[in-house]
Amino acid sequence: MDMRIALAGNPNSGKTTLFNALTGSNQYVGNWPGVTVEKKEGKLKEHKEITLTDLPGIYSLSPYTLEEVVARNYLMEERPDAIINIVDGMNLERNLYLPTQIAELGIPTVVAINMMDLVEKNGDEIDIQKLAKELGLPVVKISALKGEGIREVAEAAIKAANASLTPKTQSFSADIESALSNISAAALADVPEAQRRWYAIKLFERDDKVLSSMGLSKDIADAVENEIVKVETAEDDDAESIITNERYNRITDLISDSYVKQNVGELSTSDKIDKVVTNRWLGLPIFIAVMFLVYYVSVTTVGTWATDWANDGVFGDGWHLFHIGTSAYNDAMDDYASGTIFTDDVKAVVDKAVAAGVTGAEDVQGAIADGSFGDFDEAFGNYGDAMADAGFDIADTVDAALEADGVPNPADFGVWVTGIPVMVENWLDALHCTDWLKGLILDGIIGGVGAVLGFVPQMMVLFIFLAFLESCGYMARVAFILDRIFRKFGLSGKSFIPILIGTGCGVPGVMASRTIENERDRRMTIMTTTFIPCGAKLPIISMIAVALFGGVWWVGPSAYFLGITAIIVSGVMLKKTRRFAGEPAPFVMELPSYHMPTLGAILRSMWERCSSFIKKAGTIILLASIFIWFGSVFGKGGFNPDMELEDSILGMIANAVKWVFAPLGFADIRATIATVMGLVAKEEVVGVFGVLDFAHLTPLAGYAFLAFNLLCAPCFAAIGAIRREMNSGKWTLFAIGYQCLFAYAVALIIYQIGMAVSGAANPVGLIVALALLGLMIFQLVRPYKEATTLSETVQVSEAK
Ligand code: GDP
Ligand code: MG
Repeated sequence: MDMRIALAGNPNSGKTTLFNALTGSNQYVGNWPGVTVEKKEGKLKEHKEITLTDLPGIYSLSPYTLEEVVARNYLMEERPDAIINIVDGMNLERNLYLPTQIAELGIPTVVAINMMDLVEKNGDEIDIQKLAKELGLPVVKISALKGEGIREVAEAAIKAANASLTPKTQSFSADIESALSNISAAALADVPEAQRRWYAIKLFERDDKVLSSMGLSKDIADAVENEIVKVETAEDDDAESIITNERYNRITDLISDSYVKQNVGELSTSDKIDKVVTNRWLGLPIFIAVMFLVYYVSVTTVGTWATDWANDGVFGDGWHLFHIGTSAYNDAMDDYASGTIFTDDVKAVVDKAVAAGVTGAEDVQGAIADGSFGDFDEAFGNYGDAMADAGFDIADTVDAALEADGVPNPADFGVWVTGIPVMVENWLDALHCTDWLKGLILDGIIGGVGAVLGFVPQMMVLFIFLAFLESCGYMARVAFILDRIFRKFGLSGKSFIPILIGTGCGVPGVMASRTIENERDRRMTIMTTTFIPCGAKLPIISMIAVALFGGVWWVGPSAYFLGITAIIVSGVMLKKTRRFAGEPAPFVMELPSYHMPTLGAILRSMWERCSSFIKKAGTIILLASIFIWFGSVFGKGGFNPDMELEDSILGMIANAVKWVFAPLGFADIRATIATVMGLVAKEEVVGVFGVLDFAHLTPLAGYAFLAFNLLCAPCFAAIGAIRREMNSGKWTLFAIGYQCLFAYAVALIIYQIGMAVSGAANPVGLIVALALLGLMIFQLVRPYKEATTLSETVQVSEAK
């Protein structure tokens, strides 16, 4: 017989750990329909006919957060056969609030007291017999992390379901009980017996979602209201607080009867660590040090190494197995190049190019001076075309030298593994593949997808660190430390992590927003994270700095400043719009005790994130790459792999739409193409501009171009990640639309006001710029009124 069991509990109570332990790899991860809340389902390891659903973490069944609404809609509408309510044994008092409410749903429920390993280590005791008796629910002790008692809890849930064991519910004081039964009689005759109590209490609490779903007639609604007011007058408190109070009084009794705490007043190890880590003065510096370490290791050392290997090795020419032979080969290449490539002729041409101020020529010159072929190869690859266009062509010499007979062969120096593109090219050549198909496969598909997959190793390293920090309990402290600062501009303390990761790559940055529990903060973070310059935007910044500002130092920092300001300004502005003025989100968070996470859990978390990136972003970037590739090689005269941009379909489209950028100062076909190519990958912007002479871009227009490209929609891979995390096409469009409009406004303000300052004001443009600036300032200083109801309605019916 098919059976459905739901797993409910507070955030950080161990739901996911228990879920993973019970289902192993038989799981499906997705989202609840239409919202960003994650949904996990899986089959029990030992009972494949039983489906387990991991509900979002909630503290109660009130209607104030999206998580609560999702969870209770699921429980009420889908009515699973049983509920396992997992409770953190280290925080019994707060955690027992949920079971007292869940019992009222009339669904067979088992309470699992988790973290028993920690409870016992503290020497505390929980008398589960007493607790079970007083709660009126079966209670099982477990340690989800250690796998203790988890089979028992599953069996208990199955047993409860089979016996249709209706939980005993709390009796409130007499006047409330009489009001509840009057409400039942007046309004709930049609509701099934088992659910009446829940509905009665919700009506008594004036739960607006339940009220509107019942569609009571005016008379009945008045009768209900009458009952509520009677009790409120008698007790001199509002109905919801009356119920909450009684629940907590009962929990206090439950705990004093069944919980024996050792070492009262003494600090646990975890508390001792927290004294340092969350200290008012030390908290922030420790956090910065930890993040620096994580970032340093994953982005600059291990991560770079892994990414280079992926990009230059697997998706490049190839690599030496275990790196053996690489340095010998590099030395040999340096030797070889010094005689054949770094000739006096070539040096003379490069020197002239530097003197003429050709972009990047200095890099080539520097590499030659160092005698490093690797550096030369990279610089020449980036800037060779620009030099050739400016009349300083050394390509013939380089090509001839690399195709000569005496070139060192990497395979002679170690075990050489050929890169995928080389392998595929050889294979296509052997099949005598037509040129355009070869171009599509090599440049379109492998080039595009490879560029994205190249990020994966770096992401893996980063996610391992983050999973560790998250599951050992440190991330909860970080959010706590930063929340006071971040909350001021509408973000959660947890938004910091995505933004930090976003400086490396926006894709994992956006995905890291998943650790933010609150829906509004999460959306806000998803929308703003990509404002921060990612690694791929750095070349754009340095290109503009070098080409238009003579390499002046402030361009780079100003780009970061622009990104951070954009995040803050957007946070404050968006918070005041209807879309984001959702539920008041008080910062309630349990600080879980520190502990050593298991390797399996860390790897699983890392893999979950990476694989969803590979799947989702991979499909989007594949389509986009193919599309852009077609656009750039087809055009006037049909197919031509060396098509001039102007003649390609892409170029023609750019020509038609370039006027859009006129108010920003760069109504220019290449700037337009560059911006569009930036959607594929931001480093493409430099690819297009590498061959551009900047003559008709003023520094001001160049800076506006920079600002626009930094802030507008991110690359397709990041858009894919946004789509994945928003779980809604509408919200994705909203995010992209907002980013583009914001970028446009900022670039326009920069350009028009800059023109005015330099004495060449365009009256219309200046007025528009000032109006936009005024609008932003108005939105920034406008007082903020927080709505008190959750406007979102959640539909869960397809959650079968
Ligand atoms: P969720 O938010 O309810 O899904 O909670 P998680 O499953 O993510 O667990 C929160 C933290 O508690 C994680 O760091 C887990 O490793 C840890 N945890 C879960 N169960 C136990 C347990 O039985 N003992 C200990 N010591 N830690 C646990
Ligand atoms: Mg979880």
